[in-house]
Amino acid sequence: MITIKRDLFRKIVKIIKSYDEIVIARHIGPDPDAIASQIALRDSIKATFPHKKVYAVGAGVHKFKYLGNLDKVELTELKNALLIVLDVPNFARIDGIEDLEYQAILKIDHHPAEDIIGNVDWTDDTKSSTCEMITELLLDTKLVLDTKIAEDLYIGIVFDSDRFLLQNTSLETFNIIYRLLNATHINFVSLYDNLYERSIAEEKFRAYLTNNIEISKNGFGFINVDNTALEKYHVEITAVSNHVNDFYFIKELICWMFVVYDEKNAIFKVNIRSRGPIVNEIASKYNGGGHKYASGARVKDLKDITKLREDLDRACENYYSEQNN
Ligand code: AMP
Repeated sequence: MITIKRDLFRKIVKIIKSYDEIVIARHIGPDPDAIASQIALRDSIKATFPHKKVYAVGAGVHKFKYLGNLDKVELTELKNALLIVLDVPNFARIDGIEDLEYQAILKIDHHPAEDIIGNVDWTDDTKSSTCEMITELLLDTKLVLDTKIAEDLYIGIVFDSDRFLLQNTSLETFNIIYRLLNATHINFVSLYDNLYERSIAEEKFRAYLTNNIEISKNGFGFINVDNTALEKYHVEITAVSNHVNDFYFIKELICWMFVVYDEKNAIFKVNIRSRGPIVNEIASKYNGGGHKYASGARVKDLKDITKLREDLDRACENYYSEQNN
């Protein structure tokens, strides 16, 4: 392990050791990488330092319950807490810490840096997932790594790299996976049921998306999912984002945008994926952001949906002309 990384890990363990109250948070609308990294690190710190009070906070998601439980805690009662922020680069998208007065921040994240800067900060947007980073941390320090923690971390890495298909999957990702499996001997094949099992209704809904996506001459795909389609296929609003990664490797698509209207919050939820143009800078103009090739946005006005769609289509056009010159 190179010295810089060793120093960083020493600092991370030191700041964890310095606090007896620790709150671990991640982004709103969490995915398995966000929740698994949070629960795995909480369980590891608790197993390593049994006297510490460690809480994983934020809204739970029923279908990710298998990763473990989140904590309900009166945050106003914590007077000397370390806040650990995982898998989120900006304060506006941290879930569940409104009532917390923290003393310091430890940040570990694989998104491009935004406004959160940790007192100890490990931000690396070349990593496949936050779980890959937590795995490395646990493998290379005295923080406990047991079977359940290893299973959660494995799921987080597989989910966020989309089964090692996406851009940030690296030699290092495979090295970390090798070391994780070697150290813990988890039965990783048995974990895929939880991650990938779906109802036939959901599968039919995926076919609906395939049948209804509009593809421009520039290779840009767009679908605004009607709420009646959700009713017809008996699926929740989250089914839309569940399927956005299924559209990788379609020859005619280099970038695609899914939209669904969230009636409860009166907002359009947008998922964007690309294997051509960089999309996070475009998404950030529309109350969004994320990774270079995988972004999201929350848009109030339908007119902005149209503008975002046009911007992305233009980015595809420019990408094509750059490739052909
Ligand atoms: P999603 O399409 O929801 O899976 O999100 C893809 C990536 O974009 C993830 O890294 C999210 O954290 C990020 N993201 C999603 N929505 C937003 C938003 N409104 N603002 C900033 N980043 C977002």
